[in-house]
Amino acid sequence: MRAAIIPGDGIGPEVISAAVRALEAVSSDLEIEEAEMGLGAFQRTGTYLPERTLELLRDVPAALFGAITSPLTYDPTYRSPLLRIRKEFDLYANIRPVRRLNEDIGLVDLDVVIVRENTEGMYTGVERDVEGGVVTERLVTERACERLVDRAVQLSREQGRRKITCVHKSNVLRRSDGLFRKVFYERTEGKGIEANDMLVDAAAAALVSKPQELDVLVTLNLYGDILSDEAAALAGGLGFAPSVNMGDELALFEPTHGSAPDIAGKGIANPTAAILSAAMMLRHLGRGEGAAKLEKAIERTLSLGHRTYDAGGRLGTEAFMKKYLEVLGTL
Ligand code: ATP
Repeated sequence: MRAAIIPGDGIGPEVISAAVRALEAVSSDLEIEEAEMGLGAFQRTGTYLPERTLELLRDVPAALFGAITSPLTYDPTYRSPLLRIRKEFDLYANIRPVRRLNEDIGLVDLDVVIVRENTEGMYTGVERDVEGGVVTERLVTERACERLVDRAVQLSREQGRRKITCVHKSNVLRRSDGLFRKVFYERTEGKGIEANDMLVDAAAAALVSKPQELDVLVTLNLYGDILSDEAAALAGGLGFAPSVNMGDELALFEPTHGSAPDIAGKGIANPTAAILSAAMMLRHLGRGEGAAKLEKAIERTLSLGHRTYDAGGRLGTEAFMKKYLEVLGTL
């Protein structure tokens, strides 16, 4: 079983090397190949996304990615390598499970999965000047809505989740979001799963005030971007939030946080989001048992009171990993 790792920049390499140690502890048949991307790759090779990295990604079903830092000075030719990968591999669904892992961490008892459209919506990047202002194009296609909703249905089934909520703003964006809502009900009908819909403003409030009513949220690009950061903050912060960018050929797993230049090299990054992303990758590769162990060991480590700095504790990455691997060894 092969998988790629792309540590990237900043705290990326710190959290990915921790996640690889966790993976190696539970999965002996995983063949991990490393590739480069980001600012460090540019400084070493002259390109942010080396061809070899693309070749490797074409060759593996899954990759674990850390984070990258944008260029330090303005470069008009810069194109985010991550956006390029999303496009090249058509990674159309961004999936973020958000669960509060311990009652002392975070603010709200959340257990939701946000399935976000990843290829269009407000992120087409097409803007044009008009007299007195700027127009941004926002694209919603039937095909993108269909495959997104299908993905959310599949995920709900696999994870035994009970309800899918379509999050939109069709009271204002009647045609575009109206299309999404229509497709949602068409594709969820008769699938044996409860389906309802909610306006995005109401969903933002519900994450705080009635989280127990939410389960799987399927939503368009911009709404998903905002709601998933809100949910991650409510459940304990970026250090605990895993994700995957899913396509039909490749799944790119990554902690939700960025390269955190402010703490890079200090040895204090929380590796939990990277480890939980690695667990999602293992499950995707059919190693559900190993994945469950990685997740359970995180919960246990936290319940024993071990915490990194971002969670109010006093452990650096290495000290946290020592406790974590000890717990993992007992499972
Ligand atoms: P980038 O430009 O790469 O997105 P950023 O600093 O703008 O970097 P994040 O990397 O997401 O954005 O970090 C936001 C804040 O959260 C920073 O203060 C960072 O130190 C903190 N943070 C992010 N990830 C972690 C982590 N794994 N452990 C501890 N703190 C983290």
